[in-house]
Amino acid sequence: MSKSNVRQTENLSQQEREYENTIRPQSIEDFAGQPKLIDNLRIFIKAANLRGEPLDHILFHGPPGLGKTTLSRIVANELGVSIKETSGPVIEKPGDLAGLLTSLEARDVLFIDEIHRLSNVVEEYLYAAMEDFKIDIMIDSGPAARSIQLTLNPFTLVGATTRSGLLTAPLLSRFGIKSRLEYYSAEVLQRIILRASGVLQVKSTSDAAMEIAKRSRGTPRIANGLLRRMRDFAQVLGNGVIDLAIVEHGLRALNVDESGLDDMDNKILATLIDKFKGGPTGINNIATAVSEEAGTIEEVYEPFLIQEGYIMRTPRGREATEKAYLHLGRKKEGLLF
Ligand code: ADP
Repeated sequence: MSKSNVRQTENLSQQEREYENTIRPQSIEDFAGQPKLIDNLRIFIKAANLRGEPLDHILFHGPPGLGKTTLSRIVANELGVSIKETSGPVIEKPGDLAGLLTSLEARDVLFIDEIHRLSNVVEEYLYAAMEDFKIDIMIDSGPAARSIQLTLNPFTLVGATTRSGLLTAPLLSRFGIKSRLEYYSAEVLQRIILRASGVLQVKSTSDAAMEIAKRSRGTPRIANGLLRRMRDFAQVLGNGVIDLAIVEHGLRALNVDESGLDDMDNKILATLIDKFKGGPTGINNIATAVSEEAGTIEEVYEPFLIQEGYIMRTPRGREATEKAYLHLGRKKEGLLF
């Protein structure tokens, strides 16, 4: 499994989606990590429940696979309401959105994934719905066509995005709660892997879980994806138990990077070092060289590379660190060791 395939939800196969749903935590207690965000959410949910009001609209932003969809479902569970799920590109016209909005019961959650991909007209239509719980709809057609205003049941919109930089100011300002999801530490990922093993009824030793955790790019989706593959290795090559020997063998067989970096991460580092002499160089140069949008590099790939100390952000652009050279086996001058 190439790790770049497990990045975006839209690239997941039906089987992978089902697998994710099986191990997805349902309650706030089972959601590991993100302590600040969780503490705040608990309070806001409790307050909304005490008052019998809908929760404020929430925006979850951060790289793919960190738990935005999972949290949205947990929010609905904790509010004791239903959730309707859709995504930005799926809502083609205001009428599609109106259909969803009018089907919501009081306090229900409407989850819009990839909310940065809403079209302008749909986005503008959403403003009044979010602010006043009102929408205009057209009835009849031809000369008799007229618009009437409908009052909606008060609801909570939960938006998720990997690219918060693409959201317009008017949309951003309509979210009362904006939370950024951070990459997970290896310790927290280890807990997530052990919990998922329990759900899957497969035994993983804690050192094996830690080894998977370290190679998972701080991302639960990648950790769970690797666990799934390791289960195959354990069943076919071993006695069904995921232990350190199985994991070491399996990760080698899958060509998983020792540091948990994926293909695009390595491509970015190699470009920076080989094409731009380690930098500093602008994000647009890197983006062009790796054929990816600058914004995607900035919001999806770069945060992890910076957090792990492979790249530095300087006023003159991005620079590769010593660690990046070592990782790729390059010398500072760009020569191979
Ligand atoms: P996103 O919507 O941010 O792309 P998802 O919510 O779909 O990510 O999460 C991807 C996978 O990772 C799911 O299988 C989910 O169960 C798991 N996961 C994400 N965050 C956590 C967490 N904090 N604890 C346990 N499992 C998690």
